[in-house]
Amino acid sequence: MLNKPRILVIEDESGIADTIQYVLATDGFAPVWCATAQQALQEFAAEPPALAILDVGLPDLNGFELFKRLHALPGGASVPMLFLTARSDEIDRVVGLELGADDYIAKPFSPRELVARVRGILRRTVRAPSAGPQESAPAATQSVFMLDEERRQIRFYGRALELSRYEYGILRLLVQKPGRVYTRDELLTKVWDDDAASFDRTVDAHIKTLRAKLKAVAPNAEPIRTSRGSGYALAEDLPPS
Ligand code: CA
Repeated sequence: MLNKPRILVIEDESGIADTIQYVLATDGFAPVWCATAQQALQEFAAEPPALAILDVGLPDLNGFELFKRLHALPGGASVPMLFLTARSDEIDRVVGLELGADDYIAKPFSPRELVARVRGILRRTVRAPSAGPQESAPAATQSVFMLDEERRQIRFYGRALELSRYEYGILRLLVQKPGRVYTRDELLTKVWDDDAASFDRTVDAHIKTLRAKLKAVAPNAEPIRTSRGSGYALAEDLPPS
């Protein structure tokens, strides 16, 4: 299921934490504020987040030490972490220590820049072949498409789509792995369960009606990309609603 990615915001200054939480929530993430390292360790141990944003200057533990402790928790090694630094000597340490942090951003930072970094990191880590058991779609596409398998329903920018059986089958497959190219043969095998005379153009015809339905909701978005005649893939970088 496509839940909102949970992101720990480990930052003692409430003003900064508020700003970060606001932009993350607006962009379809579920931020969790931790004002101390202690809280962060508890939240992280309860359930590893999709990503952690980590202030270097915390009241109870320095960010580098906290990073190592989080990293050592179960599942911690696969959680991407983004450092927030206030001083250039901290930046030198983040880079110089080669802790394995995924990125850092220097204060003061623009909230948009922060969200762009978060998205970039999640996109990279989701694509990594060793992605953990809960393989999830990149954040951007997650917030755009909502798949409800029990109701066999897909929402696009919040609007429920009226889909035929095969349209639903195709879109369901694409939404689950944005960026993955499916050839017409693969789509026929995975979506059409009977061996009724199906030709390539059957797939093309359904893609065409599917695109028209998506276009009716968002005229300028191009969610289904054609991959050089070999097949179709869902766009990974759709603008958030
Ligand atoms: Ca601080």
